[in-house]
Amino acid sequence: MSLYSIWVLEYAYVKNYNVSGVLYGAHNQGYLKLPYAYVVIKGEGHVMMVDVGYNHHDYGQVLADRFGVEAWHSPTDVLGQIGIAPEDVDTIFITHAHFDHMGNLGEFPNAHVYIQERELTRAIWALSQPARLSFVSIATDPADVLACAALAQQARLTLVDGDRENVLPGIDLRAAPDTHTFGSQYVVIRNDGKAQSADPWVLAGDLIYVYENIEGDGSVIGVEQMYVPVGVAVGSQTNLVFATEDIMIAANQEVGRVIPVHERRLVERFPSRERESGLRVSEICLARGEPSRLG
Ligand SMILES: [Zn+2]
Repeated sequence: MSLYSIWVLEYAYVKNYNVSGVLYGAHNQGYLKLPYAYVVIKGEGHVMMVDVGYNHHDYGQVLADRFGVEAWHSPTDVLGQIGIAPEDVDTIFITHAHFDHMGNLGEFPNAHVYIQERELTRAIWALSQPARLSFVSIATDPADVLACAALAQQARLTLVDGDRENVLPGIDLRAAPDTHTFGSQYVVIRNDGKAQSADPWVLAGDLIYVYENIEGDGSVIGVEQMYVPVGVAVGSQTNLVFATEDIMIAANQEVGRVIPVHERRLVERFPSRERESGLRVSEICLARGEPSRLG
């Protein structure tokens, strides 16, 4: 019996994203389609999200144009596909402070937001560096940092320091500092509510972009398989490899229980529906009594 239903909702995509960004060391391997997506979790009286996308105006649009984002749709439109309105969302877990994950906080007036304290303070530190050092803030929208300050003023922000178990029943936040970003976190859903869950899901943020980050080709060094970290990182690839190890432990060593939102082939592993815009909904699991939203 599952406590929660989980859906991954695409809200935009980049048609041609350089593979070197998603796989460390993958030079001259061309381009792939990179969906932009967020996650809805529903159950136990809550509607939660993992990340919220971005708003396609002001600096959000500037960044989106720079990264070649297409087919952007609003949260009202995207969440509407599964019968949910932005006002219904009561809890938001932000995996990291990149614009495409955190850039839409203003659209969720009733939500309490969780982010790692380190992610927010280091984002401000990164933004304060001179322009020649702006690699460290390359996908950060300063307006998102200001949005967090406003949420704090409204008592709707929790800054998490490291791991936090049972932030809601069966849901854990796990810190992965100095990886893809300075204070990334991922979300573990123990969907049977047990401490040693037989039904876990790991919402990986950008610690995993594609399945090859886990099931990478190790033949270059004579092993069958090895973790290949994501290419984009302000921390270290070493930290990413060990975060992947922790993610796989949380996922009971099943790759299919790790949910990477930028993975274009998620729809091949889970029931899904594609709409005219080319955006897809994947239904990861359904809680008891919850109807499918793919009909
Ligand atoms: Zn990112």
